[in-house]
Amino acid sequence: MQGFRPLRNNNKELRQDQDVRPHHERKTDIITFRAARQIGLSVCVGSPSAPGACGVSHAGATLAAAMVYDFQTQSFLSDGVLSPLELIRRARHNGYEAIAITDHVGLGGLVPLLDRLAEDCRIAREEWGILAIPGVELTHIPPNRIAEAASRARDAGAGLVLVHGETPVEPVLPGTNRAAASCPEVDVLGHPGLLSDEDAMLAAGNDVYLEISTRRGHSLANGHIALVAQRNGAKLLVNSDAHAPEDLLTEELAITAALGAGLSREDAGIATKDNPRALLEILMSRLNQAPR
Ligand SMILES: [Zn+2]
Repeated sequence: MQGFRPLRNNNKELRQDQDVRPHHERKTDIITFRAARQIGLSVCVGSPSAPGACGVSHAGATLAAAMVYDFQTQSFLSDGVLSPLELIRRARHNGYEAIAITDHVGLGGLVPLLDRLAEDCRIAREEWGILAIPGVELTHIPPNRIAEAASRARDAGAGLVLVHGETPVEPVLPGTNRAAASCPEVDVLGHPGLLSDEDAMLAAGNDVYLEISTRRGHSLANGHIALVAQRNGAKLLVNSDAHAPEDLLTEELAITAALGAGLSREDAGIATKDNPRALLEILMSRLNQAPR
């Protein structure tokens, strides 16, 4: 199984994505710093006119204060239209710091899917400085087999396990939300539709993140998901469920989706920044511990 390998510095890529906002408008990005240091990048979001303001030398590479995180996308290895590498490349262009590719899969096919994703994600991390994570979207699995599928996905090298939840626009088996929210090996319950209070409470207890989706159809239930998640203490994320380049998030779209789901501006910041960074930290440490 392929774990995360340290990234080498890539000055050219970093300069291309350099943040051009004035120094005072850039918040120090703790997870960016942590994640970047973990992967061996030198980090500075300060301006050349204020060397040392951020405590890091301005000599050498700077890392853009990229602010987009997305934990659900599909490549052409399932029903997306882009190759994994093109999907990651376009995400980087949109300002992504991290992307999980979560192709649809069942219990069969986990190993070959994750072998292919792991290699392309590793290349993207090494060459482009984006935290690309090989993942799965466990899709239309019998609810009583979801825990087994999550465990097998992790064993096959999944950096992130997402379950395709009970969206209002597909005949997902009832009980899918409950099975995913009950499983600590599930990281994200995607588009959980008409989420119940009980399931949101289980998700909160098992550190399963609940998804606000920018995807048409799934997004019909965003307001309900946000309401029920918040009153039960479950954590929210905004994901694109991108299948094509035009579906990818921008920072503005992610925040707008969170606000449109009824979150306050502060809670929208938590759903689009704090929660993704916290999850990313878990994923990074998990992948760094994976056997090489
Ligand atoms: Zn799909």
